[in-house]
Amino acid sequence: MIVAIDGPAGAGKGTLARRLAQRFNLAYLDTGALYRAVGVRVLEMGAEPSDPASAAHAARTLDLTSLDSPRLRDEDAGEAASQVAAIPEVRAALLDFQRDFAKNPPSPCTGAVLDGRDIGTVVCPHAELKLYITASAEERARRRTLELQEKGFDVIQERVLADILGRDERDRDRSTAPLAMAGDAIVLDTTEMDADMVFDRAVVLFRSRAEQFAE
Ligand code: C5P
Repeated sequence: MIVAIDGPAGAGKGTLARRLAQRFNLAYLDTGALYRAVGVRVLEMGAEPSDPASAAHAARTLDLTSLDSPRLRDEDAGEAASQVAAIPEVRAALLDFQRDFAKNPPSPCTGAVLDGRDIGTVVCPHAELKLYITASAEERARRRTLELQEKGFDVIQERVLADILGRDERDRDRSTAPLAMAGDAIVLDTTEMDADMVFDRAVVLFRSRAEQFAE
């Protein structure tokens, strides 16, 4: 069973994906981390994340074993990620890895959950369950600000909101694999839901899809 979770920045995709993975013995791939790793690599090379040649080189030679580095969670990594993510050669270089992960999840997992922007539309168009997780930009900024403040960063919500709106726009407007809802995705607007409510809803949806596919 493959679960595809898409949606804009800060909507709670990662939290949900992690919990589903644990509950249903699925392998989890945070595909945003791939783009963040490419963005950070370009920054470390001293190049511009918007430069196609540098970004494509970074993507093709990426070390896929360090995707849980805390450096990838920094705000400049997210910004660089959204710039490299608009470059078609970068997306092409990361596609096979994501598809292979979904089809052959590491043992002993019995399926995979991937979260990102184009999982239900491009990476896994045949996923058994597709969720599109969203929330108002203000609420997403509020949550992200709290999260960053808890980690000790000195941030203000207006600035976080401006970054989120900028990232949403770039992710939606790019020509290759833009942020989009798959036609058969189930939308969960989490503006007025807490993480437990979102998880409970997703568990019900997962079970009903699993039963359908077992028949
Ligand atoms: O989800 P996260 O905030 O970590 O993603 C960072 C950036 O990577 C996003 O703003 C988006 O531009 C890009 N991304 C993407 N496609 C994905 C996952 C992330 O374009 N599947």
